[in-house]
Amino acid sequence: MSMRPCWVEIHPRIFEDNFRFLSALAAPHAELLAIVKANAYGHGLELCAAAAERAGCGWLGVCSVEEGVAARAAAPSARVLVIGGAFPGQGEAVVRERLSVSAWEPWQLEELERAARAVGASAGSVGVHLEIDTGMSRQGVALELFDDEGAERLNGLLVHFGVGSPLRLEAVMTHLFASDEADGAQTESQLVRLDRALSRIESSGLGLWPEWLNVGQSAALVRGQAARIAGLAAGHGMRALMRPGLALYGLVPEFDPPFAGEEPPALIDARAHLRPVLSWKTRIASLREVPAGALIGYNGTFRAEHPMRLALIAAGYADGLRRQLGNRFSLLVGGQFAPLVGRISMDQSVIDVTAIPQAKIGDEVVLIGSQGENTISAVDHARACGTICWEIFTGIGSRVARLEV
Ligand SMILES: *Cc1c(COP(=O)(O)O)cnc(C)c1O
Repeated sequence: MSMRPCWVEIHPRIFEDNFRFLSALAAPHAELLAIVKANAYGHGLELCAAAAERAGCGWLGVCSVEEGVAARAAAPSARVLVIGGAFPGQGEAVVRERLSVSAWEPWQLEELERAARAVGASAGSVGVHLEIDTGMSRQGVALELFDDEGAERLNGLLVHFGVGSPLRLEAVMTHLFASDEADGAQTESQLVRLDRALSRIESSGLGLWPEWLNVGQSAALVRGQAARIAGLAAGHGMRALMRPGLALYGLVPEFDPPFAGEEPPALIDARAHLRPVLSWKTRIASLREVPAGALIGYNGTFRAEHPMRLALIAAGYADGLRRQLGNRFSLLVGGQFAPLVGRISMDQSVIDVTAIPQAKIGDEVVLIGSQGENTISAVDHARACGTICWEIFTGIGSRVARLEV
């Protein structure tokens, strides 16, 4: 069946190029785990997981056990990490699908251990990434547990990795909450706290030697922090694993506040090499001429000051074209910017093509991507909506077809 023309085009080869570039940027310090949560940031999990594998990526990161099951099907031999942790009753699926999982609550470790023992899983067969809360106050073992007073509670967690347990302390992880702040001060204090926590795990007397130190999203990687994180890891006999998301999809995070002087060379390099993986398109469904005085869209928020030529497009807020963009954003038709006029509807929107007389029914309209000399990026959408490009990508509706090109 032919489709309603509202689709995204995914370039798996660009994803592969981005992965290889980032991998080289991290080398020889860190390996990479490709974050493909939320349907690969809206890009399509299957396409991106396959592209990651082709590019030599050994690790995928997803939010949930449900996403882990989907990632396992798409990439049978990859190591798949569930960064959001398992929920009650999900241990069985973690074991069955050979997922690694982040954990920090005693009940999570109990759930995993019980599920693993129930199927007679062999010692150390379930990889756990113990998350430490080094300052974000979101998830992870509280830092107090690494003080003297917390020793008993910390050991209560660590005994789950004792000799003969089906759980293996595969990694220690933390999340940086300000890696896009140029001065790096918050990140540095998080890393210092992490260092202390690692020493504490080492001296627990349980003989735990986690292989990986799992730290650092796109911003940390593209600003060149692989060496710093690898240094910290090496001090504890560990290897560094970094976990970029956004940069794999071709966008460089914005640094706010920005760098005062020269940007780090890694960042300049990343800007030059990373390319967007996704374009978002629709087509003109219908054209009409309206006289001066005509009202356009719900509540007539736009009134034509002169005769206008309007194009109806098959994209609305249910597709992810944010409603705030009505009357304040333009899309591309025939390589030119055509303003969105009136309110965006759930399934449709109207653009002004008065200045683009060659526009005709069936013409391609670009929401994200390039046409002729002009480009609209997810960052442009985000700025116009007062949000971040992560939210724009993940807001592209599930009914929008993901097409490999
Ligand atoms: C989403 C996420 C990432 C990836 O972040 P980017 O900024 O997109 O690179 C890494 N780690 C965790 C824990 C995340 O939730």
